[in-house]
Amino acid sequence: MASEIDSPRTPPRYRGRFAPSPTGLLHAGSLMTAVGSYLEARSRGGEWWLRMEDLDPPRELPGAADDILRTLEVFGFEWDGPVVYQSQRHHLYQAALQQLIDSGHVYPCSCSRKEITSVARRGVDGYVYPGWCRGGCRSQRDSHAWRLRVDDAAVAFVDRLQGPYQQNLAQDIGDFVLLRADGFWAYQLAVVVDDAEQGMSDIVRGADLLVSTPRQIHVQRCLGLPTPGYCHLPLLVNQAGEKLSKQTLAPAIDAAAVEFELRQALQRLGHHPPAECRSRAELWQWAGAHWSLARVPHGPCPL
Ligand code: GLU
Repeated sequence: MASEIDSPRTPPRYRGRFAPSPTGLLHAGSLMTAVGSYLEARSRGGEWWLRMEDLDPPRELPGAADDILRTLEVFGFEWDGPVVYQSQRHHLYQAALQQLIDSGHVYPCSCSRKEITSVARRGVDGYVYPGWCRGGCRSQRDSHAWRLRVDDAAVAFVDRLQGPYQQNLAQDIGDFVLLRADGFWAYQLAVVVDDAEQGMSDIVRGADLLVSTPRQIHVQRCLGLPTPGYCHLPLLVNQAGEKLSKQTLAPAIDAAAVEFELRQALQRLGHHPPAECRSRAELWQWAGAHWSLARVPHGPCPL
């Protein structure tokens, strides 16, 4: 039998993704995230996939998914594999939920939002659910959500850009919803199931999702899935310090000004292409040769 030293394991191949929600068009903030995750994947010889996170039709903007893909194409992004749509993967989320029901990790919850918000205290990302339905549904209602039990212990990881980060899920978050009472899958479940099923080795995304990562690690552990590497890129914020988003009325990026927008995204990520790099191809070539996470700022980036 060959020893482990004689036959070093080849490290798992880098596979990353960009996973926009089609609730709005691509804006300067989401372009920054796309550029950062793309360059990180390519500079490590890895793959880069696209996943459309279209699980919440009422919040979606009609046509946004196609528009995002077209815009990415115009900017010169080249992705691997077919685009994956979460709306076509409900069976995977259902199977994961069933596994968690069978293992006793989740329980049905009939509490309304109003009941919770009137009593619960605020945690790091909304109200901390007080666990009322842990021992059985408190009230009879037609529909109920499924919540995942969390532990009173630290969930910690080291982000490749933001450094060590941890939460005590019981104190900071509370048992959280995986399937909403209205039948919609929660982001926290879908993202974990998809990242694992697609074999993602590294997640590079916006820093607004740092606060979600301990929940996702907990879901991974409950499902027996591996934890990928995480890297949370700086957020682009407006004058009020708010993340650029549809809610803060971020303008869509101008697909007619590709070189300008691309240069600006690179600069915001701490990379400054020389003036001679003018064309899209020259900018990408320079960025591919010079990309380094060490240059990327950690904190929010003002617009
Ligand atoms: N769909 C999420 C968003 O647009 C990103 C999810 C992720 O990268 O994990 O904010």
